Amino acid sequence: MRFESYGRRLVMFLKNLPQNSPFRRPLLQVMTVNLHVKTVAADFDVSQETIYASHRSSVDANILMSMRSTPNVKRNRLPDEDLDLARTFMDEVFPQLSGRDFRVIAMTRDSVYAVYFGYCTDRDQVPLGQTTFNEKIFNKMKIHNTADSTICCYCRRLKTLEHVQPRTAAQEAEYGELVEHKERWFEQGRFFGERKNTLIDHKQRNVLIVVQDFTQLQLQGTFYQDFIVVFQEFDQEEASKLKTRMHHLVAPTTNIKNDGTFVIRVWLHMINEGWFYRYDTIEIFSDGAGKHFKTTAIMNFFAFMQMFLKKCIIYHFFESNHGHSVCDAAASHIKKAINVFQRDKGEAVRVPPQVVDVANGIKNHDAMIAPVQPDIILPEFDTFHGIRKLRKFTFDEEYAYGYRISRLGHHEMQYPLMTESYADIFLNILE
Ligand SMILES: [Zn+2]
Repeated sequence: MRFESYGRRLVMFLKNLPQNSPFRRPLLQVMTVNLHVKTVAADFDVSQETIYASHRSSVDANILMSMRSTPNVKRNRLPDEDLDLARTFMDEVFPQLSGRDFRVIAMTRDSVYAVYFGYCTDRDQVPLGQTTFNEKIFNKMKIHNTADSTICCYCRRLKTLEHVQPRTAAQEAEYGELVEHKERWFEQGRFFGERKNTLIDHKQRNVLIVVQDFTQLQLQGTFYQDFIVVFQEFDQEEASKLKTRMHHLVAPTTNIKNDGTFVIRVWLHMINEGWFYRYDTIEIFSDGAGKHFKTTAIMNFFAFMQMFLKKCIIYHFFESNHGHSVCDAAASHIKKAINVFQRDKGEAVRVPPQVVDVANGIKNHDAMIAPVQPDIILPEFDTFHGIRKLRKFTFDEEYAYGYRISRLGHHEMQYPLMTESYADIFLNILE
């Protein structure tokens, strides 16, 4: 059992090594020689040729042995910079979303450490040991660890409570809320599916469905935000399914955060490029991330956009923690394409312009560096109280209307807009 867990760590470590690491090939060789090549290639997510190449190489293995002579430097204090770097790593890779006091991590603790290890080595920094990393960093943070990425922390908690009998009054109340969470998740997902089918059944050429999400791209240990905007519309050529176009707006530098101004800059750009002129209605779907999507500023922006474009805009939110798979697919396509490119060309993808080139080579994808600069300063907006429990927004010239779920025709809340006080900020950028 213990050896199995050591083995798993080693596999994770190897999988997270940068493509050009000198340890990659010898480690692969040591771990896979005499094993069934096809199976191990699948396990390590590399080509069979890579496995064969590692078996053929004879000199590389020395590099592992040579490590024995590395002086064993004993560290007797922890420089603050090392701890700071570890915290920066956690914030970049597993950010704590606003409105939450925890991070959701869909990875085992060992994998987190393996990724951290790669992050440090790519920066020529010595990583903390795993015990120290766990004690000083990981254990100090509030983490909802969902080993299974398909399940969210609320759904996981629900599963736990389902087995608690009898439940206390407090547990019962929590249980009720979690059941509603799950129902809303299904309901919003079902609505999304039906909405797409309506476009097909009624050949609605005038409606554009937009699904958006952020993902992080790791290039040589540095992380860049990729804002994924998926367009879905009725397809004249193939009427049985929607035409899908996946746009990647890749942050130009690593310090550009996935915040609301990123979203707004990209939408202003899309308006300038005339991406919407063919449609009367734009229906947007995203998760309810309180950092960049479900915010008062963003709702004010879309109210402005509706007036500016004179098109109907409806914004739907999926239930918390449950985005939609079309964006997950776009994210996995681009990550896979980067890996394949690095493997086949033997050169590393290091900077966003290279990502753009790679992504533009994928069918139905296109990419560009996100036009996020110069930054815009958003004014203070009157907070929409209760925004978190709303799942759909519509707009008119005076109000944003919030609905409890997308299917409902009557709104639950209405919030006054002050469009004229901020319109100039957007108009400055619009051409
Ligand atoms: Zn859930």
